[in-house]
Amino acid sequence: MTGRPDSDDGTDVATKPEDALDAPGKAAPARPRRRRRWVRRALAVIGALMVIAVAGGLIYVRTAPFGASPSGDRLASIERSPQWKDGEFADPWPQWISPTASIPGGGSDTSSPDQPLSIAATDTSRLAVAPTHGLRVTWFGHSSTLVEIDGLRVLIDPVWGEQAGPSRLLGTKAFYPPPADLADLGRMDVVLISHDHWDHLDYPTIRAMAGWSATTFVVPLGIGAHLERWGIPADRIRELDWWDSATVGSVELVATPARHSSARDPLRSSETLWSGWALRGPQHRMWYSGDTGYFAELAQIGQRLGPFDVTMIDSGQYDPKWPDTHLSPELAVEANALVRGELLIPVHWGRFSLAPHSWTEPVERVRAEAACRGQRYLALVPGVPTEPTEDAVAAQQPWWPALPWHTAAEAPIYPTVNGDPDQRVDIAPCSTGGR
Ligand SMILES: [Zn+2]
Repeated sequence: MTGRPDSDDGTDVATKPEDALDAPGKAAPARPRRRRRWVRRALAVIGALMVIAVAGGLIYVRTAPFGASPSGDRLASIERSPQWKDGEFADPWPQWISPTASIPGGGSDTSSPDQPLSIAATDTSRLAVAPTHGLRVTWFGHSSTLVEIDGLRVLIDPVWGEQAGPSRLLGTKAFYPPPADLADLGRMDVVLISHDHWDHLDYPTIRAMAGWSATTFVVPLGIGAHLERWGIPADRIRELDWWDSATVGSVELVATPARHSSARDPLRSSETLWSGWALRGPQHRMWYSGDTGYFAELAQIGQRLGPFDVTMIDSGQYDPKWPDTHLSPELAVEANALVRGELLIPVHWGRFSLAPHSWTEPVERVRAEAACRGQRYLALVPGVPTEPTEDAVAAQQPWWPALPWHTAAEAPIYPTVNGDPDQRVDIAPCSTGGR
């Protein structure tokens, strides 16, 4: 090596005035060259680490918990769906999500419980006896629910894992373990899934069901690919498009439209369909919204399939930055009216914190809005089998702590009409107070 000008950037280091002043004599160019060499090495290491991270990520999202992409006959039936556009399922009611939605911060101090909740274990012996009136609902927190309806036992969006997500690091930890063991729930006729987001479709839970040979898995289009990879035999899976139905026992299960999306990883969004579900038995009817934002066509569900003795409606994890992705509590009450629900059970709250609002705010606001509109609601206690009778409605008591929360007036959620933030749905909440 000589002291000739470095050719990397065309700068003659020996002639730079600062170098000349700092380092007289022959040693002058050596330090900047060493510095550049170190910078080049550091950049090479950073580049290599980035390549390893990307490659590792690509390998990671192909591991079992992320499921599988639909192919073959499954993909062929997807491609016949009116909802399938340009290689993915398209939401007919485009959603607006604020560009700042992914910036963390601004969360409520009470978005998760600050001390362990005491949730009583389910008295599973009660589940061994059929419900007196033919309809019983056991809510396990968030959206996981056992519905017994006209002799059919249906487990909805069961999440028995420790977190919603692929790992402790990348998941959202549950507030409490499930109040009952899966194996103690008794015979299960149907496992019903609304969509493949992690807080609704849980890998370890489905894996634990691989031996449930008498159970039919009823799911929206595409989700069978995940289930098959996880050990559920194809002949036990029924995949449906919106408005299609499957009948198990004496109950018809109808997939209903929803304003939402799907994906287990960001590289494969909306490869599978999302839906709500109507359950129509000879004596009773119930409707589960799945995850959904507000859309006016909810009324069609009521016209075609209602009225419903009970509805279970997405009432939590909303935010002004994603007003179209989940219903606000007030719009959950509106949805209950639109579908002709006679008793609203708020779900999608109470076990995972996926939005900044106070964790008890969804149920507090549902209570305020339902009371204001004269609608009936039932806030279930996690793990307690409950027949939705007038007595149960009259006897209900809050099981959650009294925490600060924001009213509909303080923290309004206004969905967009069609994904345009300048055009909002004009439905004013009835309740403006409620504390
Ligand atoms: Zn979802």
